[in-house]
Amino acid sequence: MSYSYDDQNIFAKILRGEIPNDTVLETEHTLAFRDIQPQAPVHVLVIPKGAYVCHDHFAAEASEAEIIDFIRASAKLCDMLELSPGAGHDGYRTISNAGEAGIQDVPHYHLHILGGRSLGRMVPKPE
Ligand code: 5GP
Repeated sequence: MSYSYDDQNIFAKILRGEIPNDTVLETEHTLAFRDIQPQAPVHVLVIPKGAYVCHDHFAAEASEAEIIDFIRASAKLCDMLELSPGAGHDGYRTISNAGEAGIQDVPHYHLHILGGRSLGRMVPKPE
């Protein structure tokens, strides 16, 4: 596996404070903020502060501290955003797009957390 990270991507600029964001949660290694073009009533993006391109890059190369922080932050967000079925809420979907086939627009690893409505099938069936 070999990834090169483009530090001019929009989320890198958000992390450097060059572009504003609507922060929901910030931890030592993780930032979560509202998507600028929400696809559901709740649409939050969770990103590591480190320079990782996509899920497998992060999962393979991030430190255990970064990975634990990221996963625990995502759980806290599900709670804060009142999405967790375990707390009697309606549920949610996490999505992480990677590369061309995944139609990833921003090359900084991010998890979409979507909720607040029924989200339909996981992947649309081909026409
Ligand atoms: P991807 O297609 O890479 O999985 O998703 C990128 C997401 O980033 C899209 O949902 C898009 O709306 C969101 N996005 C792109 N630019 C910005 C921005 O400047 N601010 C915020 N908050 N979200 C953005």
